Amino acid sequence: MEEHKVPVRAIENLTHDVKRLTIDKPAGYHFTPGQATEVALDQDGWREEGRPFTFTSLPDEDQLELVVKCYRDHKGVTQKIDKLNIGDHLLLHDVWGAIHYSKPGVFIAGGAGVTPFIAIFRQLKAQGKVGPNKLLFFNHTQQDVIMRSFWEQTLGDNFHSFHTHEGDDRIHAALLKKYAQAGDHFYLCGPDGFVEAAQEAIQAIGGSTAAITLEA
Ligand SMILES: Cc1cc2nc3c(=O)[nH]c(=O)nc-3n(C[C@H](O)[C@H](O)[C@H](O)COP(=O)(O)OP(=O)(O)OC[C@H]3O[C@@H](n4cnc5c(N)ncnc54)[C@H](O)[C@@H]3O)c2cc1C
Repeated sequence: MEEHKVPVRAIENLTHDVKRLTIDKPAGYHFTPGQATEVALDQDGWREEGRPFTFTSLPDEDQLELVVKCYRDHKGVTQKIDKLNIGDHLLLHDVWGAIHYSKPGVFIAGGAGVTPFIAIFRQLKAQGKVGPNKLLFFNHTQQDVIMRSFWEQTLGDNFHSFHTHEGDDRIHAALLKKYAQAGDHFYLCGPDGFVEAAQEAIQAIGGSTAAITLEA
């Protein structure tokens, strides 16, 4: 497996626990919007601790961007990413991932599961092809919504934000039916339990499993 050591060039807070990292792009590094790589810290004791993160930049940009939700109370890689400084290095590995854009549809994301959709919609926007695509974005609270203004500007009335710790419903069939139809194509990403609930909702409104794009 290839390993690329790259410096962090910029760090920006997107929410109270989500950061955007801008990092150098290794020469010859190619990905399609929606794809990810395994990322490790170039620090003693952490080089073997790779975790998957999705590119949120566009493939033809000179630098790479990652959007990372940092679990501060958990001694893992994202707790360390939270403390990175500009000039620190990350180790990137091969590009992989099944999520990609094929046709207009209904995108359903839970929390940091929105990251593959950031790259996909940045590309659709750049190409003038956002069209009738919709995003149903589920978070605990309004403070957790990643890049709200981007979604509002890009999708307008086709952006729907749900805050499940503030009284909004979780994903289920009756809710989905208000925004989607059986024949729609669906794109899903989020924690395992969220993706399972969304799949059940899609099937309950008559959607086909063949019309669902998700990370296998
Ligand atoms: C294909 C793919 C792409 C991904 N892309 C992104 C991305 O772009 N951005 C992003 O932010 N994430 C992304 N993730 C998720 C990301 O990989 C994980 O959040 C990351 O691996 C967590 O690493 P960690 O070492 O901090 O935590 P780990 O030690 O690996 O544990 C993470 C798990 O611990 C749980 N946890 C958190 N806090 C605690 C606690 N206090 N006690 C017990 N458990 C806790 C979390 O719910 C999480 O499920 C992606 C995952 C996949 C599979």
